[in-house]
Amino acid sequence: MSKDSTLASDGVSGVFHAAGGAAGAEAVLRVVDGMAEVVAGGAPFSRAPLSGLAISARLGSVARRVTFPDGGLFETFDNDGIDRLAGFAGAGFVAEAERFHPRLLVAVVAVIALLFATYRYALPVMVELAVAVTPPAVPALMSKGALQSLDTTVFEETGLDKERQHTLLGGFNRLAALTPRGITGYTLHFRGGGPIGPNAFALPDGTVVLTDELVALAGDDDAMIFGVLAHELGHVEHEDSLRRLYRAAGAAGLIMLIGGDLGSGAEDILVQGAGLAALSYSREQESAADRYSVELMARAGFDPTAIARFFRVLATEFGDQGGSDFFSTHPASGDRAEEVERLAKALQGG
Ligand SMILES: [Zn+2]
Repeated sequence: MSKDSTLASDGVSGVFHAAGGAAGAEAVLRVVDGMAEVVAGGAPFSRAPLSGLAISARLGSVARRVTFPDGGLFETFDNDGIDRLAGFAGAGFVAEAERFHPRLLVAVVAVIALLFATYRYALPVMVELAVAVTPPAVPALMSKGALQSLDTTVFEETGLDKERQHTLLGGFNRLAALTPRGITGYTLHFRGGGPIGPNAFALPDGTVVLTDELVALAGDDDAMIFGVLAHELGHVEHEDSLRRLYRAAGAAGLIMLIGGDLGSGAEDILVQGAGLAALSYSREQESAADRYSVELMARAGFDPTAIARFFRVLATEFGDQGGSDFFSTHPASGDRAEEVERLAKALQGG
């Protein structure tokens, strides 16, 4: 005898609706020798080869429907019984997850972990890849858009007279000339800082912006200003500015992916200058730019510890971290002034 006869002894209980919309009747579905039959009160209602049945997919605790070729419909909540009769155990993910709640929890945790891992590990890799393959035209385009946007939203025209601008530009060019990109790789722009106050920042294409407020804060200590500008040149040379932009775009993309709206947001971030200026560098990037300032200033014949004075003035004027926008976009790592002085001493062979 085939195994079907064994199954015949324990059929599945349910309700049978005969073809033509008849009222349901208590019935048992069993399989005998490859034939499915619905039996009620010992008498067969409907009979068909097992292969001719349409069996609805298992979906949690939703009633299972077995449709006979003649239109008869057998309904049951005995999911396991149907699976046993039909000979397929594959219940599918939905049913499994609904039956075993811990597994659903595991799935949710797994998705969160995957997203976190993407942010933590894949994003930096993608950023490095993007930086490596970015043609020079892209940073130029992004920087142009960023400066234009900042000019309409944040900045005012500079109040510095031509002579002052000329002096500062002279020091800036002396520094830029010693970098791999050279003088032509950089442009210095003077602006009234408005809400961002005493600040300086660099865009990925070598556009450097210096605010009147920072110039005023330095008083007659021009080297202090050059020290800050050298720090910004460091960010451009290390491509921090470009990385920061891609990182923000990548994070925004990820957030929008979760939110289900992958629209023009990433594109906005690429051209929105205000957003760009508010993004901070990492502590490692800051330390590297400080070191760059010390070395470049020394090579240019300026005081390499000049940027340390800027940190001290900022701390005095605005408190250690709060108040100044320079510290919010250039996070402090320990006592940066002391670190700069230590580096300068080491550089001078002291
Ligand atoms: Zn910085």
